[in-house]
Amino acid sequence: NKKVVLRRHVTGFPTEEDMEITVDTIELGVPAGLTAVLIKNLYLSCDPWMRGRMSKHEDGATVPASDFVIGEAMVNFGVGKVVGSTHPEFTAGDLVWGLSGWEEYTLVTQPESLHKIKHTELPLSYYTGVLGLTAYGGFTHVARPKKGDFVYVSAASGAVGQIVGQLAKIAGCYVVGSAGSDEKVSLLKTKFGFDDAFNYKSESDLGAALKRCLPDGIDIYFDNVGGATLDAALLHMRHGGRVAACGMISQYNLEERDGHGLRNLFYIISNAIRVEGFTALDWFHLYARFEEEMARYIKEGKVVVVEDVAEGIESAPAALIGLFSGKNVGKQLVAIARA
Ligand code: NDP
Repeated sequence: NKKVVLRRHVTGFPTEEDMEITVDTIELGVPAGLTAVLIKNLYLSCDPWMRGRMSKHEDGATVPASDFVIGEAMVNFGVGKVVGSTHPEFTAGDLVWGLSGWEEYTLVTQPESLHKIKHTELPLSYYTGVLGLTAYGGFTHVARPKKGDFVYVSAASGAVGQIVGQLAKIAGCYVVGSAGSDEKVSLLKTKFGFDDAFNYKSESDLGAALKRCLPDGIDIYFDNVGGATLDAALLHMRHGGRVAACGMISQYNLEERDGHGLRNLFYIISNAIRVEGFTALDWFHLYARFEEEMARYIKEGKVVVVEDVAEGIESAPAALIGLFSGKNVGKQLVAIARA
């Protein structure tokens, strides 16, 4: 059983050497007396939040999940096939998504974290991204779009951003995205239907870029990056605007917290801006409804998906690290086996 394990806790920018591939042998079945499900992992999702779990948290901060354990397989969402089960709700052959190990086979002892895949006619890998809850929940329940709203999305070509942009178009909004390369900017306009887009790395003044693309201001900022981008957006929000605080990837590798470089917080007051954070798991009770709606959009061609698929478990560390320099074009995942 090949696995990706954490070698050491990380400070600053993570490297491939912070992880290693190890091999052990396992029984291909559920041990007697245990209620559990044995999964053959097919797709591993690469997610920025894994960075937080690679550090050691000693400052008492509330974190969404515990630190990864050195020497053990890292854990994240993925798609797999049940190869053995003593749990009444799962049988061999079931396709599932949920929390699993970064390894070829995982013995899941808390099977309530697994969910059966309903739309097996869609690419199974979609259950690591577009059929997750973040974009849908954050946009519909936190940003609460109205027809005609001016929407700005950062990290817009990524897993979450590309879906938010398309949901914004479905909701009748005007949507602008920013991304870190001309190739990504072109994708935003040609593939995902953004009304406008800019490469934030080649803009000398983020605020000027926002003013150029959204001269009447921003009603909704879907924030995936935090820091200077959030600060610039705050200055351009319209009265009553909403910031859906989804992620702050520009901050995850900082060694020292520096107040996120925010100078424009006062505009939250003067422009009556609602800034609301969330985690995707907040809406799990809505998942069944969301899954149907999103599956329909995909089948009707209203939502398209761009994935960046790394092949083989050995490629997982580099794929994960690549998120933090924008190497991924679209949803980053790792294919490790076929169903
Ligand atoms: P992406 O697919 O968007 O990949 C990450 C992207 O972030 C990179 O491709 C890069 O794009 C951009 N990026 C990396 N470093 C920086 C930086 N220093 N400054 C600005 N942009 C940077 O990832 P996801 O869609 O999975 O995640 C997007 C955000 O949403 C993250 O902040 C993540 O933590 C958050 N998230 C939150 C969830 C929640 O429940 N609240 C759930 C899932 C994700 P580019 O080339 O454009 O710079």
